[in-house]
Amino acid sequence: MATRILVVEDEPKVSAFIRRGLEEEGFEVEVAYDGPFGVRLALGHAFDLLILDVILPGLSGLEVLKAVRAQDQEMPILMLTALGTTQDKLLGFDGGADDYLVKPFDFVELLARVRALTRRRNRGEAKGNQLNLADLTVDTAAKTVTRAGQAIKLTAREFNLLELLIRHQGRVLSRGEIAEHTWEEAFDAGSNVIDVYVNYLRNKVDKGFGKKLIHTVVGMGYVLREE
Ligand code: CA
Repeated sequence: MATRILVVEDEPKVSAFIRRGLEEEGFEVEVAYDGPFGVRLALGHAFDLLILDVILPGLSGLEVLKAVRAQDQEMPILMLTALGTTQDKLLGFDGGADDYLVKPFDFVELLARVRALTRRRNRGEAKGNQLNLADLTVDTAAKTVTRAGQAIKLTAREFNLLELLIRHQGRVLSRGEIAEHTWEEAFDAGSNVIDVYVNYLRNKVDKGFGKKLIHTVVGMGYVLREE
């Protein structure tokens, strides 16, 4: 069965570009050109992924997100934003988006996120509020972490970092991406704050357990995966 994707994007050039590319990759794509129609399609049909622009006629992308999430907590949602400010991204995530992409983007970037989000759904890794990898479980509602059945205490910042890594498990996240998603305030590009927090997390999540899950990819960033 083909993976079905709904694209809510009012700019014909952008929606045509996304549709063409995804169809070539074997996805089934429908497009809505305004917010209200987007909500109707999203809730009325079984889509495996919603790609949602932020600036739309009728209802904004964030309003669409809210309306969809009120009735469907499971469908993965990828936000497209030209705004590019951290505050807007955070608003998107608070509203229940799974990932975002800043315009303009390369198709390969979009495809990588589409694959990650639809794969996660197909594998059923997200059970309600729980995200799993090997014997590690992160409950995003209760804000608890267990490894091999053992509770692990994390600070809020460590938890956010781990949630980001486990949501994107298997994908290498650059320090820039981690900073954008996890830190509200800006800090020096030369700062090693991300590395420091990854080390805190390693000490709590990996140390003393047989299998390491947090990996450094030299020159690129960090990834959570089973090796
Ligand atoms: Ca738009």
